Amino acid sequence: MIPAIVARRISAFILILLSPTPFAAAQSAASAGAEKPVAKLTYLLAGHLFDATGESVRENMVITVEDERIKSVTSAADLKIPPGANVVDLSHATVLPGLIDCHTHLGSRADRYNEIYEFKDTPFDHAFSGVVNARKTLEAGFTSVRDVGSDPFLAVDLRNSINAGYLVGPRIVASGPGISITGGHGDLNNYSPQTRVMMFPEERDYAIADGADQLRHVVRAQVKYGVDVIKIMSTGGVLSRGDSPGAAQYTLEELKAAADTAHMAGRKIAAHAHGTQGIKNAILAGIDSIEHASLIDDEGIRLAKEHGTYVVMDIYNDDYLLNEAPKYGLPVENLDKERMVGRLQRENFRKAFQAGVKMAFGTDAGVYPHGDNARQFFYMVKYGMTPAQAIRAATANAADLIGRSKDVGTIEPGKFADIVAVNSDPLADVRALEHVDFVMKSGVVYKDTRSFASHATTN
Ligand SMILES: [Zn+2]
Repeated sequence: MIPAIVARRISAFILILLSPTPFAAAQSAASAGAEKPVAKLTYLLAGHLFDATGESVRENMVITVEDERIKSVTSAADLKIPPGANVVDLSHATVLPGLIDCHTHLGSRADRYNEIYEFKDTPFDHAFSGVVNARKTLEAGFTSVRDVGSDPFLAVDLRNSINAGYLVGPRIVASGPGISITGGHGDLNNYSPQTRVMMFPEERDYAIADGADQLRHVVRAQVKYGVDVIKIMSTGGVLSRGDSPGAAQYTLEELKAAADTAHMAGRKIAAHAHGTQGIKNAILAGIDSIEHASLIDDEGIRLAKEHGTYVVMDIYNDDYLLNEAPKYGLPVENLDKERMVGRLQRENFRKAFQAGVKMAFGTDAGVYPHGDNARQFFYMVKYGMTPAQAIRAATANAADLIGRSKDVGTIEPGKFADIVAVNSDPLADVRALEHVDFVMKSGVVYKDTRSFASHATTN
């Protein structure tokens, strides 16, 4: 039997590991050590620096990294790097903050559209995918993601394993399963009533809730199991059966109950919403971000501006769904729905951006293969943004939406050293970001193909 005091210590330790705010947990674990180890300094020579605090580029800068954070950002002319120092020569590259994708599903694979996988895949299959996809995502230059829907509570466990250093992956702001009405986008529809795939039938997989009381309960239960953010389905979806993307799926009153409960618990809440009315309901309910926002109209745009609501429009994956997913068994019903909303979404992206709605980068990775996240930048530029604006949507703005501006999103002293570099100039051709050459997260280098560093200099 474990003595009470030891048991209390063990549970305090477990609490630190399982803290719902993993960024803070990592810090308190570090500061709990008795003696402070000597700081490790790394000097990054940044030939062209886009720090994402604005839209400009500075030439010949040095980023000094102390352990896991940025210590200073200085002009190379003003800094004497000591001999023998640890120098990373990115002087031929464009250096920018680690990218952030606000809409991923790390547990999902883009080659399993045949509906048989609803029944064949186990939660372990999804977890194994999550391990592989987390690494791919980081190596693609995405040092933070918000994961908005997976088995209970895959994203929470993955986040904790990455934070503990056991797995390689991005920082994860984790949700639980997306919360849906009975028969809605998050439910298993149009099969026999005897068909069940739930892991937690009593709790309806922490995913199905009808009415304000059930919503309050499921939001609280998700918080209990460690989610950072709540995801709710405000309309039908493209990849679900038997529902319509244009149709609202919760009442305003239900959405309000969910949003208020999430906020009371200090969590943000994101709403999946394709349809015009469901978008407006979610904004009016006080939800923090509208995911997809495909059929947003002028009134929706006005409301989003008025309420300061972010929209996260996944305007790349239409290509993959229409061209590739049918090979992997995407049913005709879902293909037809994508044809209905995909192109409209791109036009509405342009309208919403031009009107000044707050926008953060999110791609629905998992619908298409993880690691291809940066392919969306091309479409963001094609539909109205400058490359600098698109990059800011995936850095400073994304950090604001996920509530982590203190730690990530720009290259500034005090922030985590989450830094990427590309060989060619992404501000001239944003597709450069599809091939990130260097990835650092928390001061640790995870990828370095430095073809551009043939002649390293240490002065
Ligand atoms: Zn999604």
